[in-house]
Amino acid sequence: MTFGIDDLPVRDELRGKTPYGAPQLDVPVRLNTNENPYPLPEALVERIAERVREAARDLNRYPDRDAVELRTRLAAYLTETSGYAVDVRNLWAANGSNEVIQQLLQTFGGPGRTAIGFEPSYSMHGLIARGTGTGWISGPRREDFTIDVPAAEKAIAEHRPDVVFITTPNNPTGTAVPAETVLALHDAAQAAKPSMVVVDEAYIEFSHGASLLPLLDGRPNLVISRTMSKAFGAAGLRLGYLAAHPAVVDAVQLVRLPYHLSAVTQATALAALEHTGTLLKYVEQLKAERDRLVAELRAAGYEVTESDANFVQFGRFADSHEVWRKILDRGVLVRDNGVPGWLRVTAGTPQENDAFLDAVRELKKEQS
Ligand code: PMP
Repeated sequence: MTFGIDDLPVRDELRGKTPYGAPQLDVPVRLNTNENPYPLPEALVERIAERVREAARDLNRYPDRDAVELRTRLAAYLTETSGYAVDVRNLWAANGSNEVIQQLLQTFGGPGRTAIGFEPSYSMHGLIARGTGTGWISGPRREDFTIDVPAAEKAIAEHRPDVVFITTPNNPTGTAVPAETVLALHDAAQAAKPSMVVVDEAYIEFSHGASLLPLLDGRPNLVISRTMSKAFGAAGLRLGYLAAHPAVVDAVQLVRLPYHLSAVTQATALAALEHTGTLLKYVEQLKAERDRLVAELRAAGYEVTESDANFVQFGRFADSHEVWRKILDRGVLVRDNGVPGWLRVTAGTPQENDAFLDAVRELKKEQS
């Protein structure tokens, strides 16, 4: 017997668990992690190299701990795109929105406290809760994956969570959450216990609707979380951020590691923000491809959940894992998120989407 995890004195709640992560398989068409399929434009690659070269000259020093220039630029991006003015004091950035969420749970969750999400949703919310010692409550969703407001309000009143997660558009279903729902749940959460409401807008740039950023007005317990991983096509950069009342930004600084954002990360993100226009150019194309996937999957006889994201949930399958495997056998990697009966495909390039559609049409023919 080899020495393993269980032989170590790991925390009880981590025993028997496996790390989160989609399979990183080397197949021709990878549509499984909601990445943007388009590489960064060459002019931006050059600008990143320039900015990083400058930063390299100072790598003997710690980076700007408060990432002021970067937060200022992120605030400008949000103000420009939402019409709701935020500034550096409202902004906080970290290594991916996963780290933003971790810092929020370290600040507002923790031992003896709980967080709720409406599932199926982004499973990392629950996993980061576990990692921070926060109790996790699985809140309900309707059969069609929308949030049932009375049922959600009831769950909040009953459990009185310290943190409420609302993901819009939701992952893995693609479902957008209307502003009225967020407001209703925010009010229910404040009535139950003054708690934090975190709106995870990782995919908002792909939505038919607008960002819920203006809801921050007069609501200091609301947080909007965003990322450069999806619409900006910069998943490898690891840059997530939040917008909230300045008090929230002060609070997360109590748990952040000093110098958590490296000088290289800050330089790269700043270069990317200089090219926002070019980076976001592909968003419209990906939205059109997403709509095409929805239409073509339906035409091929699949059930599809309405999507506001850069991915589409399709089904229904008696054995979704078996279908996942058959699609993989045809050289296309999609995602089995463990939602019984459903799989998820990320909108790729038109060629990648064609390869996926060919595969699933072929499967339908095989079945009939
Ligand atoms: N929130 C949601 C809803 C996501 O789907 C993801 C990535 N899959 C994230 C947050 C985390 O993204 P990142 O850490 O790359 O910013």
